[in-house]
Amino acid sequence: MKILEDRLARLEQSQWLSPQDLQAMQLERFTHLAVHAWHHSPFFRMRLERAGWNPQLRWTAASFARIPLLTRSELMLKEEHIRCHAIPPGHGKTYRMQTSGSTGQVVSVLRTDETQRLWLSIAMREHLWHQRDFSGTLAIIKAMTPTLDDPVQAAKLGWGPPATLFRQTGPAYTQPLSMPVAEQAKWLARIQPHYLLTYPSNLSALLDLYERGVAHPPSTLREVRTIGETLHPGLRERCMALDGIRIVDLYSSQELGLIALQCPDSGLYHTQDEHYIVEVLDDEGQPCAPGEVGRIVVTDLSNFATPLIRYEIRDYAEVGPTCSCGRGLGTLKRIMGRRRNMVTLPDGSKHWPLIGSHHYREIADIRQYQAIQHTLHDIELRLVCAPLTQEQEAAITSLSHRALGYPFKLRFRYFEQELPKTQGGKFEEFISRVD
Ligand SMILES: [Zn+2]
Repeated sequence: MKILEDRLARLEQSQWLSPQDLQAMQLERFTHLAVHAWHHSPFFRMRLERAGWNPQLRWTAASFARIPLLTRSELMLKEEHIRCHAIPPGHGKTYRMQTSGSTGQVVSVLRTDETQRLWLSIAMREHLWHQRDFSGTLAIIKAMTPTLDDPVQAAKLGWGPPATLFRQTGPAYTQPLSMPVAEQAKWLARIQPHYLLTYPSNLSALLDLYERGVAHPPSTLREVRTIGETLHPGLRERCMALDGIRIVDLYSSQELGLIALQCPDSGLYHTQDEHYIVEVLDDEGQPCAPGEVGRIVVTDLSNFATPLIRYEIRDYAEVGPTCSCGRGLGTLKRIMGRRRNMVTLPDGSKHWPLIGSHHYREIADIRQYQAIQHTLHDIELRLVCAPLTQEQEAAITSLSHRALGYPFKLRFRYFEQELPKTQGGKFEEFISRVD
């Protein structure tokens, strides 16, 4: 507990360091990691030596940028060689963490007591930044969690770590994502939460009910924290328009932890530079400037069990400007999602479509939608609704053309039941199977 308090106090200070001082701190911490990996990870010993480094040398931004990127398939196939045979005693026990992407590839990494402590301190920083009222009621709807609906139990367990390690908290209730959305709405109306934690696609489905007047949002609800999926900008506006409810988004991954948190002042995502080196790179591997979009590459400075050095997490983001809040932490303006969420136009160019505009529902009672690009000329539009008339299909087509940026011929397919999610309970509105 004392360790966590110290960590948190240090985070309180370091966020105000200048970007230059933060970078110097990162390179110093990276040197410790590199020395450890050189001694204990056969994979990284070879990789770091090939990048021209040996433990007598100090790292600079230039030498760091020469280390090849670690791909997800390398991590999947070579974890045994990447993994360290020893970890520093202060890092405690190791835990195996497995994650599977939508393609079914399983990535497995070791994490430690130390990475867990850092996760807790960053999660607590997030609560403090957003000045949550810890006496409030929290509702959680996410994949693979059991129902917790008993008020005595909910009060006893509270919000859970990290909040309960530092404070007394109000009750926390939980439901699995598999609960039908209409049931979720009834449940939320009953428990009257102040805070809700869920995925963007699930929130969108709840908003559908609220906007249609089928159900009413709890009058107590002031903030929704979103996790796990790409948050499309329209969702914030819908939430705000509904009842002044704000969304706070978190950017995390199972392999790495909490990578970026929303700034309480500007809404930009602050990269957690004390514990990660977050790079956004263009197609040539050069750092993107503010306003440019590139792939996110993350180095976890705290994981000495399975080192993740320049790990290509496969998400894309737009680099943000220096934040007006005064924190020296870097910023991302927008997290775009995966490459497979990009549409490819017949000329080969790619972009992230803003499909799934809720304007669809002004045309028909469409409960859910998903677009799949099979080939350069074939896009399947999956809709959960009663089959549309020709006029309605034409209206949806014209909205979709605008969102896709090209007059694709669309293939309509109708579903009665909810569309399938990935194993982790995530949902993607646009998936490309091109390239
Ligand atoms: Zn800020």
